[in-house]
Amino acid sequence: MNPIFADVPTSVFEVMSRLARETGAVNLGQGFPDDPGPEDVRRKAAEAVVAGWNQYPPMMGLPELRQAIAAHYRHWQSLDLDSDSEVMVTSGATEALAGALLALLEPGDEVVLFEPMYDAYLPLVRRAGGVPRFVTLEPPHFRLSEEALTGAFSEKTKVVLFNNPLNPTATVFGAEDLALLAEFCVRFDAIAVCDEVWEHVVFDGRRHRPLIGFPGMRERTVKIGSAGKIFNLTGWKVGLVCAAPRLMKVLAKAHQYITFTTPPNLQAAVAYGLTKDDAYFEGLRADLQRSRDRFTGGLKDLGFAVIPSQATYFLNIDIAPLGEADDAAFCRRLVVEHGVAAIPVSAFYAAGAVRNVVRFCFAKRDATLDAALERLAGIMRKAA
Ligand code: PMP
Ligand code: GLN
Repeated sequence: MNPIFADVPTSVFEVMSRLARETGAVNLGQGFPDDPGPEDVRRKAAEAVVAGWNQYPPMMGLPELRQAIAAHYRHWQSLDLDSDSEVMVTSGATEALAGALLALLEPGDEVVLFEPMYDAYLPLVRRAGGVPRFVTLEPPHFRLSEEALTGAFSEKTKVVLFNNPLNPTATVFGAEDLALLAEFCVRFDAIAVCDEVWEHVVFDGRRHRPLIGFPGMRERTVKIGSAGKIFNLTGWKVGLVCAAPRLMKVLAKAHQYITFTTPPNLQAAVAYGLTKDDAYFEGLRADLQRSRDRFTGGLKDLGFAVIPSQATYFLNIDIAPLGEADDAAFCRRLVVEHGVAAIPVSAFYAAGAVRNVVRFCFAKRDATLDAALERLAGIMRKAA
């Protein structure tokens, strides 16, 4: 068996969700809303299942979805994409990431990764033959620096795997950081694989800026989105991939042998959803922002040190002030003794460099958040 997969533990998201089910805990671990999601979009999918075409759709995705993706990004991110040659639909961002790495890397190529990083990145990079070069981002701002990038990039750099907005820190990289990264990609002739699944889940009036829009990046960026995050339907696994034809031709070859296609009924519903007006997307954001504020306020009232969340379904707390030095042990106790599942952020570091940060998912109904806060009060009473 290949040791890269044989030796990795089961994903922390699966472990925590299973523990939550077994113990009856409130699950604020794995990132998914407990609301059923927008009814009109779900109805479109249901109609497409019952009345629609349920056989293999075109390999690159339904034409109406590819057109909707190009139009959506033109409107929201000022991108000019040709839906025919520069847009592809995959089975989730996860397939898009795996396919991009398999398609772009040759054994021995270096890949720049930013810690903390989504847990799938490192095993996928390694399995594709890539050699990881890490940049460790420092709390509380998790910014890029010239010095850190200089230490990571080399003549062997083929790919930069970049997540913005960033899970799990819930931060958004500013224009200055993006311009700096673009400069390095151009200087070292590297391809940026940009995981932008949280592009719509940004708060306080922020606007997502895609790296592909920066000077020199149009021809060297693979932009990856996820309808699951855009519509709060995380199980749908409809990935949106955009890249210049030179890259897309190769990405399509990987896609044709990984999944080949993605369920047509879900694609039809996503095509419908992407064309909705601005108020609809602003409304989804506003709802999540309200949940963020409710949970942030509740945690602060209990005395937790909350690290502000700018984006994503997540917020983090610093557990060092509680005298805790091991986030994984803390999360185990939290779920078993107090009935709340969370994610230890050390799972997002190759060698567990940071052990004092714990991530909660606030994309939940008020009652769920309040039930969690009530239980979290217990751990504060114990700490006092
Ligand atoms: N990348 C990041 C940063 C994520 O947070 C997630 C899921 N939350 C994914 C990729 C996976 O997206 P999908 O479900 O579309 O495969
Ligand atoms: N991306 C989700 C999170 O960060 C989890 C996805 C998964 O379970 N693999 O919680």
